[in-house]
Amino acid sequence: DTIGENLDRTAARFPDRDALVEFATGRRWSYREFVAEVDALAVGLLDAGIGKGDRVGIWAPNRAEWTTTQYATAKIGAILVNINPAYRVHELEYVLNQAGVRLLVSAQSFKSSDYVAMVEQVRVKCPGLEQVVFLDSPEWAELAGGSGDPQRLAAIRLSADDPINIQYTSGTTGFPKGATLSHHNILNNGFFVGELCGYTEADRVAIVPPFYHCFGMVMGNLACTSHGSAMVIPSEGFDPTAALSAVAAERCTSLYGVPTMFIAELDHPDFESFDLSSLRTGIMAGSPCPVEVMKQVIGRMGMSEVSICYGMTETSPVSTQTRADDSLERRVSTVGRVGPHLEIKIVDPATGLTVPVGTPGELCTRGYSVMLGYWEQPEKTAEVVDAARWMHTGDLAVMDEGGYVSITGRIKDMVIRGGENVYPREIEEFLYTHPDILDAQVIGVPDAKYGEELMAWVRLREGAAPLTAEALREFCAGKLAHYKVPRYVHVVDKFPMTVTGKIRKIEMRETAKKLLD
Ligand code: ATP
Ligand code: MG
Repeated sequence: DTIGENLDRTAARFPDRDALVEFATGRRWSYREFVAEVDALAVGLLDAGIGKGDRVGIWAPNRAEWTTTQYATAKIGAILVNINPAYRVHELEYVLNQAGVRLLVSAQSFKSSDYVAMVEQVRVKCPGLEQVVFLDSPEWAELAGGSGDPQRLAAIRLSADDPINIQYTSGTTGFPKGATLSHHNILNNGFFVGELCGYTEADRVAIVPPFYHCFGMVMGNLACTSHGSAMVIPSEGFDPTAALSAVAAERCTSLYGVPTMFIAELDHPDFESFDLSSLRTGIMAGSPCPVEVMKQVIGRMGMSEVSICYGMTETSPVSTQTRADDSLERRVSTVGRVGPHLEIKIVDPATGLTVPVGTPGELCTRGYSVMLGYWEQPEKTAEVVDAARWMHTGDLAVMDEGGYVSITGRIKDMVIRGGENVYPREIEEFLYTHPDILDAQVIGVPDAKYGEELMAWVRLREGAAPLTAEALREFCAGKLAHYKVPRYVHVVDKFPMTVTGKIRKIEMRETAKKLLD
């Protein structure tokens, strides 16, 4: 199936069910209305001269129009290029040119950033960019109002293996790369994520992560539309109050977020005042999910069936997921087992050979989910996808006898202190047990004697007394092996983050070097 065929089938089955709800504005669409809106935009795009294989960029926060654009481009076989709302002119120009965007759909502004001015600035440097349509403008109304003949959509010949989407990675470890994905890649992934969450037409999913990221548009939108569930957009950008309010008002059954989002929601001063009793499930993913936070999500938010997913943009994204019937212990401490119709293996990065159960190594995955390749970067693709189509993730993982996977960190973040491999994740988990610590991140910093030393960055709970390195070392003493005890502590208000809420350790390491100089 293509994404368009799948959506039409859902709409035929559940025409009167809610498809999309924009909580901030109160706008809502049933599946019948949603498809009509998507088809009108698809015809509008055809009228604007956009056809199969053309790149259509979208640079906007989480709004209903993001979603209609996602499905309208899929219907005509145009390639949607997701542009991170946090980008500024330099990155915007790069993506528009790298992907060869012909038509850009853009918000006028977001969070006090003037997108119109930024687009004007880069436009002269993007010769391939023929048209820009800003949301809420007369041009958008014309495009979205596509009055042409919807029969024209039926005449377009599409294949499920056509490229449909270029998604840039989060840029956590370096410059973002554009993963090219097909209908087959992302529709299947969204469908199976929804299956494992047990979605039906009765589910209502609060999609908090940004749509530009696969967490929002695949695990969110596509999981919903392939099951007749409702997509609920709490706010344009992450806002803990809006997320909790939307769940309560829309009786959401599922809530999504990266760990930092759940931490902010649980830490909300009025947390107890929100009625979250409709929540059954949800997904935490995107970066290491602390056991403590998972326990609170289950206990305090009532998300008894919550899943952890692990994946990456390049693999559509999900490779492993916990299931509601897994033991509680595994559901809070592992990223689950391999997803349906996929393979995973853990290899020694040096030899490429599969390691024994219980031994850390690089996680590799193969199957329908592996991207077509990085857009126009075959050499970069060859660095990560081998000849047998295994995707080498760059993540370190351990598998137990039951096939459950634990992510121990990224190869790039592993610290080697005095010859010992140290996985920051393990230390971070321990630091979360400190009563004053709200959030903790551990990095390696250069050290003359040991090669690298450990530095903990911590965010303290409000009203907590200042925390010295000495006090923290004392807290760790006897509970962590001596070489895992952080030598330095740096107290911060926030961590350097990507818009997906991931912590940029690369930036922390740069700052730390300056701090120690
Ligand atoms: P870039 O590739 O540009 O550096 P990125 O890898 O963060 O950025 P994404 O594709 O958004 O870009 O994220 C995938 C990565 O996120 C995975 O490779 C993994 O490191 C991390 N990740 C995702 N889910 C989990 C999880 N449940 N637990 C631990 N890490 C996770
Ligand atoms: Mg990556």
